Amino acid sequence: SPASARPHVLLLCSPCMGHLIPFAELARRLVADHDLGATLLFAAATDTPSEQYASVAASVPDGVNLVALPAPPALPTTAPVRERATHAAVSSVPHVREIARSLTSTAPLAALVVDMVSVPARDVATELGVPCYMFFTSPWMLLSLFLHLPEIDAGLVGEYRDATEPIRLPGCVPIHAHELPGSMLVDRGSDAFGSFLSMAKDASRVDGILVNTFSALEPVVGDGTDGVTELPVHAVGPLVWTRPAGVNRDHSRVIRWLDQQPHGSVVYLSFGSGGTLTLRQTAELALALETTRRRFLWVVNKPDEDTASGAFFGTRQREEDDDELGFLPRGFVERTSELGLVLPSWAPQTAILAHASVGCFVTHCGWNSSLESILNGVPMVAWPLYAEQKMNGAMLEVQAEVAVRVHADADGFFTKEEIAGVIRRVMDEEEGADMRKRVGEFRHKAEQALTEGGSSAIALAHVADKWRCSCT
Ligand code: UDP
Repeated sequence: SPASARPHVLLLCSPCMGHLIPFAELARRLVADHDLGATLLFAAATDTPSEQYASVAASVPDGVNLVALPAPPALPTTAPVRERATHAAVSSVPHVREIARSLTSTAPLAALVVDMVSVPARDVATELGVPCYMFFTSPWMLLSLFLHLPEIDAGLVGEYRDATEPIRLPGCVPIHAHELPGSMLVDRGSDAFGSFLSMAKDASRVDGILVNTFSALEPVVGDGTDGVTELPVHAVGPLVWTRPAGVNRDHSRVIRWLDQQPHGSVVYLSFGSGGTLTLRQTAELALALETTRRRFLWVVNKPDEDTASGAFFGTRQREEDDDELGFLPRGFVERTSELGLVLPSWAPQTAILAHASVGCFVTHCGWNSSLESILNGVPMVAWPLYAEQKMNGAMLEVQAEVAVRVHADADGFFTKEEIAGVIRRVMDEEEGADMRKRVGEFRHKAEQALTEGGSSAIALAHVADKWRCSCT
């Protein structure tokens, strides 16, 4: 059938690269494997596209129609990341309505798919009489926390940060107070907590949920034993972008450099699309790398003294003559030129993790980065920063045993001895070899889940069939 007449899925993604990338992969699969059309709306937070967005948009898969919606008047840059993302998503609803209506004149609309912050757009689906599904781009563990939160919150006395007992969710590692998302560690009476709780409640106001995980990694996902939701929950992952996320001037240089390094010898470091360290912590990490004398590939963001998510809404397009790395310790780049490569801000991560020279990944435990590492069989040094990353780090270390966490000292600082020590554990010792073996087993199970007849492939096919059939 001509593409225009195929039932169409409209996907709405908030301004988070960590959502846009798996959304693009989901859309690609719906088009390539499930006889659906897909339009992917990106609720931009700023008028000028960031380097990150431009790079991802440049390699959106064939057949997926990506549309950046006009940005609303921006919130102050001091507003928390989640509030700025929610603001963009909520403000996008009139555009979503208009696009959805115009789509229905060319093809039947099969479903609206939203992310965890754009659930308010479900009104559009209700008006048009189509189902609204959420694609949850974080682990089941966080979704389970969302689904349980109203009940946990009603029973809690005091603040989450003071709780001495961990939160125990069925089938998940216990979550200690310090591992909770930052929005739960503020005063419960604050707006920031209020909007987090309302996002959590929104999770059960959709018709079904797709989760970017797989049952070998999170065995209780969607098995219905959770006891808090009647919603259909489908594990459809790991959906990661197998194509390099964007090609920029550094891409071929990086791959050529990796080609020259010995097998499994390189420590790859990146804190995701938004992660930032302070100036002092950046310098300490540089010193740690010098101490280990390992080969390294470090994607470094400009330091930020105020927040660990300082690059979240993007870095500006780079100027060729910028002294982009001027914040690194004096002489560091020259002293380590034989050992490592430092890249400012954005790298072809999936191609890097797939390269045989990479031996471990120092990661902020963003869920896409974690899944990409697993799908490439790369063990991790976990250095979580914000959002649900500390929960992810706990799961990867304690439950999956494919990562080792770095620990901060009493002042919240990561010393070079600690960083270097953990890198050594993952790179060389017996412990590292065991982790590499386990992550290889997860890789195998992830690939099985995604191939025809595998659990995630069946789950997605089931949902896609349901959407298509509802249109005929
Ligand atoms: N990414 C990339 N190049 C970079 C940094 C990140 O391609 O230099 C991609 C990465 O492969 C992943 C996504 O951006 O797919 C980041 O998502 P994640 O959930 O790991 O972290 P977030 O950016 O949401 O904190």
